[in-house]
Amino acid sequence: MSRPLVAEIDAAALRHNLEKAREAAPGRPLVAIVKADGYGHGLIRVARALASAEAFGVACIEEALQLREAGYQHPILLLEGFFDGTELELVATQRLIAVIHHEWQLKALERASLSTSVRVWLKVDTGMHRLGLPPHEVDAARRRLAACGNVRGEVVLMTHLANADDREDPTTGRQLASFAAAAGDDAECSIANSAGILGWPESRRGWLRPGIMLYGASPFRSGVGAEWQLRPVMTLRSRLIAVNRYPRGAPIGYGGDWRCPEEMPVGVVAVGYGDGYPRHAPGGTPVLVNGKRVPLIGRVSMDMITVDLRTQPDAAVGDPVVLWGQGLPVECVAERAGTIAYELLCGVARGRVRYETVQEREDGQVL
Ligand SMILES: *Cc1c(COP(=O)(O)O)cnc(C)c1O
Repeated sequence: MSRPLVAEIDAAALRHNLEKAREAAPGRPLVAIVKADGYGHGLIRVARALASAEAFGVACIEEALQLREAGYQHPILLLEGFFDGTELELVATQRLIAVIHHEWQLKALERASLSTSVRVWLKVDTGMHRLGLPPHEVDAARRRLAACGNVRGEVVLMTHLANADDREDPTTGRQLASFAAAAGDDAECSIANSAGILGWPESRRGWLRPGIMLYGASPFRSGVGAEWQLRPVMTLRSRLIAVNRYPRGAPIGYGGDWRCPEEMPVGVVAVGYGDGYPRHAPGGTPVLVNGKRVPLIGRVSMDMITVDLRTQPDAAVGDPVVLWGQGLPVECVAERAGTIAYELLCGVARGRVRYETVQEREDGQVL
């Protein structure tokens, strides 16, 4: 058998989750956020399943060009715009939409000599304090863009929510008020990420920008995607490659931090931090063996992890293991490892982990 580690991508779950974003705000156009290689799921694979979205959102031109080369004609939003003025000609000819978030980009746009004009969105900083113009500079910037011959069509005003993952946090209300004051009622706009779409009705204006929810994970600080009827898209599967019995007191793995409290079976699973499994996952992090939870024990190695098989005395080499996905929400593993689902999904080692796409058949069976 070849190394059994596989990231299984469920295309039907992607389509289902896109519909959940539509249901939250009927009639609103969606920018499916597919940056970072589709949150680690594979850009083109994800784009195919999400092709009914009105637009795609990416972090850079290289990601946008991959979509164009694969034949996607959708509007593509460059979430950080261009990184220097020399990219503008390509933005224009490839019909990408540049987010303008800074004075230097405005100047570059005004000075550029382009073969065709560019569509732009203007980013307003309403409190995230990462990218965007302060609200009091918005009117002047809009006038400059309206007067700029390199700009085509209406400028969409956008902002990004900093604390929407906490539904009690008052920051979001302040950001929404600040945005409403800067944008007015009539401007085309875009506010909501996944947390906004699911948790903040007032943010569901204009273009919606769902990311993590499309991949089936909850955007909130606690809880899992299933609470929002989302379905996990990636299931990271492997197998037991060894089952060994060790005596009481035997140290397991690097450093020998974990010792067997009694004579017991220990399973070895083909997955490690070289594949994107979090090295900081502590003992007790759940792993599914034969569909049942067992605890991780010992340190995570580059290619392997070890699990406590005392609850599964019959487990054998070749038995199926799920690291996250169907039956084990990625949010649970992320929380144990002190991180978020986004990081685990993005961090799966493409080039090392084999990817397989599954499609649902018409009778509902997964192929
Ligand atoms: C990544 C990103 C999103 C999507 O965020 P999620 O939390 O994954 O839904 C939306 N808007 C911007 C500007 C982003 O950078």
